[in-house]
Amino acid sequence: MSTSRFEQAQQYIPGGVNSPVRAFKSVGGEPVFIQRAKGAYLWDADGKQYIDYVGSWGPMILGHAHPEVIDAVKTAADNGLSFGAPTESETSLAQKICELIPSIDKVRMVSSGTEATMSALRLARGYTGRDKILKFEGCYHGHSDSLLVKAGSGALTFGVPTSPGVPAAVAEQTLTLPFNDLDQVESLFAELGDQIAAIIIEPVAGNMNLITPKPGYLEGLRKVCDQYGTVLIFDEVMTGFRVGLQGAQGLYGITPDLTCFGKVIGGGMPVGAFGGRADIMNHISPDGPVYQAGTLSGNPVAMAAGIKTLELISVPNFFDNLTAKTKSLLIGLKNAASRADIPLATNGVGGMFGFFFTDADRVESFADSMACDGARFNAFFHGMLDRGVYLAPSSFEAGFISITHSENDIADTLESAAEVMQTL
Ligand code: PMP
Repeated sequence: MSTSRFEQAQQYIPGGVNSPVRAFKSVGGEPVFIQRAKGAYLWDADGKQYIDYVGSWGPMILGHAHPEVIDAVKTAADNGLSFGAPTESETSLAQKICELIPSIDKVRMVSSGTEATMSALRLARGYTGRDKILKFEGCYHGHSDSLLVKAGSGALTFGVPTSPGVPAAVAEQTLTLPFNDLDQVESLFAELGDQIAAIIIEPVAGNMNLITPKPGYLEGLRKVCDQYGTVLIFDEVMTGFRVGLQGAQGLYGITPDLTCFGKVIGGGMPVGAFGGRADIMNHISPDGPVYQAGTLSGNPVAMAAGIKTLELISVPNFFDNLTAKTKSLLIGLKNAASRADIPLATNGVGGMFGFFFTDADRVESFADSMACDGARFNAFFHGMLDRGVYLAPSSFEAGFISITHSENDIADTLESAAEVMQTL
């Protein structure tokens, strides 16, 4: 059944999907078409049930279709879908974000993570009067031109577009270095520091599987930015309200100048945001000259989902409970792997996790992640999917757990994992 659905989709939509990883290209086979979701579960268009560890790529931290979030959305929708004029709900969500995240004095809503990072970069460039930026290999910050650039080799690398269509003149302004290597950042800044507007980083990298920052690494970036007057941008589109209530910056105790959000702050609706120090944010139009806008920005239905979601994750012990679920899943996966004599490494932070088919004890760089056994991952992915466990269809994506994943769900997942590991 799904075959014909995918074929039909491919007739009208490039690759049959509206975002590439959904097409299952790297794992092979045909994507599952989802019809509905509730709590920890998805149901496909044929009625098959899955335990979901994708969670719409991060937003569904409360589980799917949380009744209070759905009610908030319905109530907002009854009042109209969009006005293109200010609403109190925008102030409420902005206030909540500013209260929860000490580094944020002011925040502007947008409709995606891509817009958030693109706008934060423009602001950093406008604020500093500099053009160059530094990003890290394997970090994904959405698909704006400046950020679709991958690393070359060496400490000082001028950008090469990863994607055709990114003008060389734009890509040249994006410098790239390996994640988790502070020495290379310090050498680059010694040479070019006074030309670099911003360092943008996923403080916990979730787009090359899951890589955590080495002790001292984020502190080092903060120091370099202070020394050279460079804006430190934490892209917390994935980690914000996901690894802890104060995001990765709260967890590691680092204060960035600007932060980007997405995913959880919209509770499943299209919302992104960027915010930070007032003296920088005041450069944004209409207070300042850096232009940024959006017809649907601060959409009232999306704000309602975001406000309710942030309210429900602010309850005591929410993140302790979520983190405990991640831990029990990862310990179980490691046990299942060792019983099957399969080498496996794992990383986990809050409600995010990664697992790696590798002999290495620790995975802490893009190169480490690239060196993992992709064929084995693909076989594991399909074995799990057959047994009703929906994992991200790529070994370079983090996994996500929700507060509705029960001990039974995790036990069922681990039973399937144990079976599949025996077949690898
Ligand atoms: N930044 C990070 C860290 C992300 O993980 C993503 C999306 N996965 C983005 C930015 C882009 O967000 P969006 O897909 O909403 O444009």
